Amino acid sequence: MQLAWTLLLAWVVRRSSPKIYEDVSDLPGLGYDFVIVGGGAAGNVVANRLTETQNFSVLVLEAGVSNKGVIDSVVSFFVEDLLSGPNIYDWNYTSTPQIGLNNRTMPYPRARILGGCTAHDGMVYMLLAVRRTTSIIMRL
Ligand SMILES: Cc1cc2nc3c(=O)[nH]c(=O)nc-3n(C[C@H](O)[C@H](O)[C@H](O)COP(=O)(O)OP(=O)(O)OC[C@H]3O[C@@H](n4cnc5c(N)ncnc54)[C@H](O)[C@@H]3O)c2cc1C
Repeated sequence: MQLAWTLLLAWVVRRSSPKIYEDVSDLPGLGYDFVIVGGGAAGNVVANRLTETQNFSVLVLEAGVSNKGVIDSVVSFFVEDLLSGPNIYDWNYTSTPQIGLNNRTMPYPRARILGGCTAHDGMVYMLLAVRRTTSIIMRL
């Protein structure tokens, strides 16, 4: 029962042909080489790497819904809508009272949607790997 709740959205990857399923009963099977819990940046990168060269089957379990058609997640700066109040695309956490903030609490956004926080992070900043940064500087 717990598994069925978590598996609102599953991503099966085999040889770079990912498919999204929204119901457990639609899955082509229940045996996978790897099962990854969380379809955020880390989970999806690992799934992609695992299927790059090997014929592994990978199941990614994501608690949230698909990001497909969620325009606020796609268009830069529309993301404010996703961050401005309780909604189904977020875990809707609130911090504990913070002594340093006069005991105020704060919203603590963590995405609950395929893509994880990359679906609502707005790409305000991007951090490159050191090697990539060096190669860009060398070309300047
Ligand atoms: C508001 C905000 C702005 C940001 N801005 C930037 C930026 O401009 N530039 C930048 O580089 N980074 C930014 N970040 C950081 C970046 O988005 C995160 O570091 C990155 O997305 C973390 O990836 P992750 O895979 O570790 O976790 P997440 O992206 O959080 O993914 C975790 C996934 O696991 C799912 N999950 C959790 N529990 C379960 C469960 N029990 N079962 C199934 N699924 C589960 C969640 O729903 C979520 O989809 C920002 C983050 C936030 C919150």
